[in-house]
Amino acid sequence: MSVTEQQTPSRLAAIARGLRSTFRVVLDVALPPLCPSCREPVEDQALCATCWAKLSFIARPYCERLGIPFAYDPGPGLLSMEAIADPPSYNRARAAVRYDDVARALVHSFKYGDRLDLAPTLGRWTANAGRELLAEADALIPVPLHWRRLWARRFNQSASLAEAVSAASGVPVLHTTLRRVKPTGHQVGLSRAERAQNVQGAFRVTPEGRAEIAGRRLVLVDDVLTSGATVDTCARVLLRAGAANVDVLVFARVVAAAKSPI
Ligand SMILES: [Zn+2]
Repeated sequence: MSVTEQQTPSRLAAIARGLRSTFRVVLDVALPPLCPSCREPVEDQALCATCWAKLSFIARPYCERLGIPFAYDPGPGLLSMEAIADPPSYNRARAAVRYDDVARALVHSFKYGDRLDLAPTLGRWTANAGRELLAEADALIPVPLHWRRLWARRFNQSASLAEAVSAASGVPVLHTTLRRVKPTGHQVGLSRAERAQNVQGAFRVTPEGRAEIAGRRLVLVDDVLTSGATVDTCARVLLRAGAANVDVLVFARVVAAAKSPI
């Protein structure tokens, strides 16, 4: 694939974005923004007060490796069974919130509903969750979309989120280092093994990208972490290309129902 082919969709995407934001200004004058979750009018906030209260922010105690919250505190530095039995290729993962109904509504509005205005808020929450990772990071790498998906959706939500995390943390974004070279289709409905198989060989570091990441500490940014197959594959590719460390930072992650301590 030539460089020109890859750049065309993003240039058109920028034009489409510009047009849409122009129209949104017109709409905003007439209509107040709506809460993405319950559709009640809101002022400046991302969510109404009721939905905000329902949003489940992830805080310690959690597995220091995977960032999965523990139902009770097992003591400092302890890892989850998942992290020990099946360690990922990335070092640490952190997420701002649990992927529940409210988080899903936020991500959906951001991704498909033209609510790019949510990016600064989601970025602040995400940067806050990843404070420790960002303090040691040299650069952020958004999980890339295949150019065909980028063309259909007009923007990469991970890249927008990475820009917002960058604005909140000062860590720069490398937008062109990692490429999705294989369209992978939707991961929804696939088993864990099928998801891993689906993203096999889907990502590549560009030749120029290798020099940018050699010996650097990177933070991969994505909107949602489900099975972790995508970020695990991306991290492996970045480490093989010479990165010193890869952590993962997402806005929301799927967390299995917490088992209550006996
Ligand atoms: Zn609401």
